[in-house]
Amino acid sequence: SVVIEDLHKSYGSLEVLKGISLSVGAGQVVCLIGPSGSGKSTLLRCVNLLETPQRGRITIGDFEVTDPEADVDRMRRHVGMVFQQFNLFPHLNVLENCTVAQLKVLKRDKAEAERVARGNLERVGLAEKAGNYPDQLSGGQQQRVAIARALSMDPSLMLFDEPTSALDPETVGDVLAIMRNLAAEGMTMLVVTHEMEFARDVADKVVFMDGGVVVEEGPAAELIRSPREPRTQAFLSRVL
Ligand code: ATP
Ligand code: MG
Repeated sequence: SVVIEDLHKSYGSLEVLKGISLSVGAGQVVCLIGPSGSGKSTLLRCVNLLETPQRGRITIGDFEVTDPEADVDRMRRHVGMVFQQFNLFPHLNVLENCTVAQLKVLKRDKAEAERVARGNLERVGLAEKAGNYPDQLSGGQQQRVAIARALSMDPSLMLFDEPTSALDPETVGDVLAIMRNLAAEGMTMLVVTHEMEFARDVADKVVFMDGGVVVEEGPAAELIRSPREPRTQAFLSRVL
């Protein structure tokens, strides 16, 4: 589970997160929606300490991420992140992309790391691409590798930041299908997305952010079908 309480983040005088509170229960999927610039990516980046918030608390399970004494490496070991841009290592093949962090961070031996990586490549339907390099794959395939790479660390939480926004329309479905499977397997997921159908079908809860605050949250189907707040209504009428 993830609990975020009263999170504040500014860049200089620009206040981007103005006291965000939200939670994701163990095994839940929460979708974060909202207009460009509302602070969605910043919030995700705070959760795995790619950004340091000025105020507020984040706990993942029983681990307080925002504790100044927190062991950042230990926390990152449990959090998988998938970005809009796949960020694969271009000079490593698919299998190596999925083993490098296991070897360096988890100190697994090579055989074990490769076994885990192959299992996860199987899971995303790319076992046969293990020897290929990222530039030999389509965008959708690269994103599936990025998911397999994250899963190979055995995360207890997966963060997704618009994982399908940079993809060709015909490959979006493959990536969403993998995410649906992960959700069905009970992975705890916090997902920034514009895919409202995915949010409605898969999310336990949808959170609408605007201007650095949570404007409204609720059960997915209910929030998407009948939002209460005018700002949520206006946003949904533009994206649906
Ligand atoms: P989008 O839907 O376009 O991805 P978002 O909701 O993810 O938007 P963020 O990327 O979190 O929005 O950005 C929120 C605000 O913070 C924006 O005004 C952005 O310009 C600003 N911002 C983000 N990162 C930085 C940074 N490193 N330095 C300064 N300002 C930043
Ligand atoms: Mg963003």
